[in-house]
Amino acid sequence: MRFDLTPEQRAFKYEVETFLRDHLPANVAAKVKRGAGVSKDELTAWTRTLNAKGWAAPAWPIEHGGTGWSLVQRHIFDVACRAAHAPALSGFGFNMVGPAIIKFGTAEQHAQFLPKILNADLWFCQGYSEPQAGSDLASVRTRADKNGDDYVVNGSKIWTSGAEMADWIFCLVRTNHDVQQQKGISFLLFDITSPGVSVKPLYAFNGKRLWNQVFFEDVRVPVAQRLGDEDRGWTVAKSLLGDERLMVSRVSENKRVLGVLKEALQEQIRRGIEMPESVHSEICALEIRLQALEMTSLRILTQADSGSQIGAEPSMLKLKGSELVQAQDELLFRMVDYLALPQDSANTGEEPVNPAWAEYIASGRYHHRGYTIAGGSSEVQHNIIAKQVLGL
Ligand SMILES: Cc1cc2nc3c(=O)[nH]c(=O)nc-3n(C[C@H](O)[C@H](O)[C@H](O)COP(=O)(O)OP(=O)(O)OC[C@H]3O[C@@H](n4cnc5c(N)ncnc54)[C@H](O)[C@@H]3O)c2cc1C
Repeated sequence: MRFDLTPEQRAFKYEVETFLRDHLPANVAAKVKRGAGVSKDELTAWTRTLNAKGWAAPAWPIEHGGTGWSLVQRHIFDVACRAAHAPALSGFGFNMVGPAIIKFGTAEQHAQFLPKILNADLWFCQGYSEPQAGSDLASVRTRADKNGDDYVVNGSKIWTSGAEMADWIFCLVRTNHDVQQQKGISFLLFDITSPGVSVKPLYAFNGKRLWNQVFFEDVRVPVAQRLGDEDRGWTVAKSLLGDERLMVSRVSENKRVLGVLKEALQEQIRRGIEMPESVHSEICALEIRLQALEMTSLRILTQADSGSQIGAEPSMLKLKGSELVQAQDELLFRMVDYLALPQDSANTGEEPVNPAWAEYIASGRYHHRGYTIAGGSSEVQHNIIAKQVLGL
């Protein structure tokens, strides 16, 4: 199998690169390149630029505002965006609940939500995990009891990323207590400012508000805001986890970090810091792992594009991609030492203590620790591979 891009794919890559060069604001790209987060306003503006071009939701069907691109085209687009340092759009809307609404929503729900997600007029967050339900998601306890035309929701969700910025939440709730766990769950969409919802911050050890705990006390949610059938929310949730499951290799994020790694090596040499010879070979080894990951990823995407059945491959891609980012972070951290002292001058305007190229290395490292937990931990991925590939 050859992986050279076809002439059409090369032309597509050129079109994407040209668009990014002409439309991506330089100040936003500079922040992303350094690893600094962008503001909600900046992300909203970029989403609207892509939406005006028809490129905000590459994975969605054309009739709902998507592009109709193949998986390989989506990969090319993703890598080009990351190479140009474009910010990633909100995954909750575009990759998770959007595709679920397309698949399970009514015509009214399509009209109500999809255009708003495409234009960043409506931001969602994901209410799945609970204090007692993470990897074992089917054991969610947050309950929704029918009362007239409403459900009354009580309980709490944890690790809810971005709830402080979100307008709505998509939420797994228990609607039936008398059946097997998976068969008593429903999928609700509701306004996070509804009476009875409270959002409390949870901070990561780098001091950033990475998550929230969201509490529900007698929150009234119209039955019409349920996605899919009552007690069939597990099917919706599974499809939602599956929709983006092939785009999990983090190739483009790994490329960005590799760029930082090479820049850090050059900068340290320029500053007269002696770098052990082994650092060079370690960077080469990481780049080879990255090339292998990209080839494997492209091979699997090409197979999926041509209709092949996909099994445990997404678990392998997630495992390898997330471990590789973390391996790069470890080397980076060793190379830059105290220069990695975390700061956020791009967003706070404060005077940087350390060189700009090193400022976000630590916060990147802390952030990437979550890659082997969120979306299914590495242990869970190992279990899937053991079962499906090794037959254990
Ligand atoms: C950065 C980040 C962002 C997140 N954002 C969100 C969000 O927006 N919304 C949301 O709902 N959730 C979110 N989560 C939560 C995430 O989905 C859960 O952390 C994840 O599902 C694991 O659940 P848990 O934390 O309860 O750990 P547990 O499930 O309690 O697992 C604890 C440990 O036991 C291991 N383990 C569990 N089961 C098995 C098994 N069967 N075999 C072997 N080992 C096992 C795990 O690998 C882990 O090491 C986020 C998490 C992170 C890190």
